[in-house]
Amino acid sequence: MKAFRFDVRNAFFLRLDYGAELLSQLKEFLIENNIKSAFVTGIGAVISAEIGYYDQKRREYVKKRFTERSEILSLSGNVSLFEGGTFPHVHVVLGYDNRLYGGHLFSAEVFACELFVVELLGSPPERRHDEQTGLNLW
Ligand code: ZN
Repeated sequence: MKAFRFDVRNAFFLRLDYGAELLSQLKEFLIENNIKSAFVTGIGAVISAEIGYYDQKRREYVKKRFTERSEILSLSGNVSLFEGGTFPHVHVVLGYDNRLYGGHLFSAEVFACELFVVELLGSPPERRHDEQTGLNLW
């Protein structure tokens, strides 16, 4: 196990723009504010989304695009460095017509979204390729 210690620096509420891509808006905010380590959580709704899961045997992501207008029941993630840049890693649970689906978030068109971003102060973890899993981990 690896552990990284941080102090909390700032906390932000973000209200994302209708029709714009969720991760792009988050990343733009992170870059503008020079945030390299953070915890992210949120709620809201999406017009569409592309989410997926990591196939552990095939070592690749399986992606699926959903066009149902769905609630973001839960969104959580973290921010660290990858290939020298700020990298948000976000998972979501979406709900539509009493069905749930979720996974790794690749993109989402925002209907409404409220994010809570907690900027962390400390040495930012950097993702590197991990041989055992095939993932880019700290
Ligand atoms: Zn993921």
